[in-house]
Amino acid sequence: MEPYNNSSLCRETEADRRRNILDDSALSIGLVSAFAGGRLLTKEEVHRLDDLKKERGHDFFSDLLYSVSHQYFSAEIAEKLWDEIIQHKNQVSTLLHRDIGIVVAALDYLSNVTYRMNSPTLVCETVIEEIVGLSLRDGLTGLFNHTYFFQQIDLEVRRSLRYDTILSLLLIDIDNFKTVNDTYGHQEGDRVLAAMAKVLLVEARDSDICCRYGGEEFAVILPFTDIHATAIIAERIRTKMAVQLPDGKELTVSIGVASCGKAIRTYRDLVDKADAALYRAKKSGKNQVVLANNERKIVK
Ligand code: GH3
Ligand code: MG
Ligand code: MG
Repeated sequence: MEPYNNSSLCRETEADRRRNILDDSALSIGLVSAFAGGRLLTKEEVHRLDDLKKERGHDFFSDLLYSVSHQYFSAEIAEKLWDEIIQHKNQVSTLLHRDIGIVVAALDYLSNVTYRMNSPTLVCETVIEEIVGLSLRDGLTGLFNHTYFFQQIDLEVRRSLRYDTILSLLLIDIDNFKTVNDTYGHQEGDRVLAAMAKVLLVEARDSDICCRYGGEEFAVILPFTDIHATAIIAERIRTKMAVQLPDGKELTVSIGVASCGKAIRTYRDLVDKADAALYRAKKSGKNQVVLANNERKIVK
């Protein structure tokens, strides 16, 4: 992770860029193939590519090559390589009397001509998407995992600071969860965890990012949501996530809530703030929501 200063707060990282290419399919392989001459571009695609070129500047060529090879090349190298690959594609296509396409051309050029790619593997785009999707999910609950949480909270906090938008975070911890394992066994504990995660997914909104933060801890990132709206959502989640155990006892959750404000410089500040609120919720008797910003406790 790069050290934070004012400029890095506003700068997109390499990891963000690669993630965006994989995530939003702005540069799908279909579009890149068309751009490389595989077929005529639609009017809409021409506009989309023009916008991307303006937006990305020289990085546009790094993005093109990343989309084709999933390998990163710096802007200076990428632009030159792209031209060479297109030339290679045209030469080989002429020899074979058929269009070999940008992927085959890039694969041959990068691995057999310039040796810039080691051990390439043949994987179709849908499988790549599946693998990327799986790598971001927690196996037990299906929520986004710890790694994805930190990537997203970092991205969202920097976005919130750059565009001055609101952003909130919930940290949720199941109360006395150890007793579930102790009483019913670890496997039942797993089932309860998965069931509570399902409730969380139902109660959160589509735009919220629900993650498994730790063992029996969850985190929800709420973009464009202020502390008051977040408090209402948190309270609803607290009520709905409570489950009754076979012995009749209620299993509850405690929630810490924090929002991006003036004092927040990095995602760590926001996570610490929510964590401190969660700590107070535990200290004050559990099964409650505590807001970090104004220390106001929601009455149950
Ligand atoms: P508190 O109210 O203070 O949060 O108490 P707690 O018992 O929930 O917290 P503590 O940190 O003492 O224990 C957490 C428990 O969660 C212990 C651990 O075995 C259990 N746990 C963590 N991850 C998993 C998991 O994946 N499956 C199961 N079954 N249990 C888990
Ligand atoms: Mg815990
Ligand atoms: Mg707990």
